[in-house]
Amino acid sequence: MGSTFRCIRCNKIIEPGTNFRCRCGGLYEVRHDFDDVTRELFDERLGTTKKPYDSGVWRFKELVYPEIDAGAIVSRPEGNTNLYRCGIVCDYVGVKDLSMKHEGENPTGSFKDRGMTVAVSEARRLGASTVACASTGNTSASMAAYAAQSGLNGVVFVPEGEIAYGKLSQALAYGAKVIQVRGNFDDAMRLVEEASSEIGYYLLNSLNPWRVEGQKTIIFELLQQRSWTAPDWIIAPGGNLGNTSAFGKAIKELQELRLIDRAPRIAVIQAEGANPLYRLWSSKGDQLEPVEKPHTVASAIKIGAPVSWEKAVKAVAYTKGVVEQVSDDEIMDAKAIVDRSGVGCEPASAASVAGAKKLVERGVISSNESVVCVLTGNLLKDPETTVNYHLGKLKGITPRASNKPIVLDPGSSGMQDLKALFTSAW
Ligand SMILES: *Cc1c(COP(=O)(O)O)cnc(C)c1O
Ligand SMILES: [Zn+2]
Repeated sequence: MGSTFRCIRCNKIIEPGTNFRCRCGGLYEVRHDFDDVTRELFDERLGTTKKPYDSGVWRFKELVYPEIDAGAIVSRPEGNTNLYRCGIVCDYVGVKDLSMKHEGENPTGSFKDRGMTVAVSEARRLGASTVACASTGNTSASMAAYAAQSGLNGVVFVPEGEIAYGKLSQALAYGAKVIQVRGNFDDAMRLVEEASSEIGYYLLNSLNPWRVEGQKTIIFELLQQRSWTAPDWIIAPGGNLGNTSAFGKAIKELQELRLIDRAPRIAVIQAEGANPLYRLWSSKGDQLEPVEKPHTVASAIKIGAPVSWEKAVKAVAYTKGVVEQVSDDEIMDAKAIVDRSGVGCEPASAASVAGAKKLVERGVISSNESVVCVLTGNLLKDPETTVNYHLGKLKGITPRASNKPIVLDPGSSGMQDLKALFTSAW
């Protein structure tokens, strides 16, 4: 039997198609009939130039989409991102063994490419002509690129004036139709979900379960990079919670296939101003209460009504994980350290490092545990926030690691200033 969709609430099974929400309201997830796979199969493909296995997603094809024809795959290729270990970040967080999986090294600069390659390939298999998504920025950048590459029309719905320029410029440049919604991400999400059923767009948000299949490979790849030894913790920012869902599914499947011996724990980090999962988790409730007016400097996780919250709750529970929240000040402080290490990331990504620090301070993570923080997006996505941080222009943020540019005249007084600068301590 091939892959099917199964409702996470009522277990109803359907053929994979364009319907991602069951009549009961639950989301579908992809179920595969896995063949026997071994670590060796995936290890042998490392460094290959053979398509599609040169991709860090399709290297794990048997665990992502076993039946799809290799020739039908649209791939950049994506993945194959580095795992960095930096002393200053370990010291900052307060653990000896912390590494950062840099998903900002994907073709369009965020982890979204890992899900997009799978879902766009599926869109083509189903004969879709137009694909659409709502986005805080990175999904639109990724979708626009993959749509362009595969000859599909792309339509992106973004909250007007709320997405970082690095991301908006990509969506425009790759030729997607950009619809700026006068509202926030949650409004854009509702609109695109309705529009996709009324107008017939193939929806590429992470409620599309194929996106989740691709994003599982963040976990597969980082475990492979660690010689299949799980760290104690894997920490990622949480917005719409597709990634959290993917991480839980990946870990569960790896355990069932006996590819890892023990499960890492997931820690999801939300911004204080956009923290519905954190609230649900800490109140031990069972219904998500949306945050009406989400706000945070980390625009990629500025989401009040995350679509995948139910899957995310299961993922965190399965791995005995935790949910934490951090302030914008903590996010930008952590970002400054990640940037200063030479690795760099966008604001939302730094929530993972800020969260790690907080969980160490609270004694949830101990200093001798091993930690992998996922850096979800590239430093260049949001240059404005970075520059404003260093200029001290971000409201409510103390720029403790600010690196202010020095302004001087080109004439002799400037030379005096320069001499003074370089004879004093650096
Ligand atoms: C999309 C995104 C997130 C949030 O991921 P979810 O799967 O929506 O929780 C975090 N950081 C960056 C940079 C993103 O692009
Ligand atoms: Zn159902």
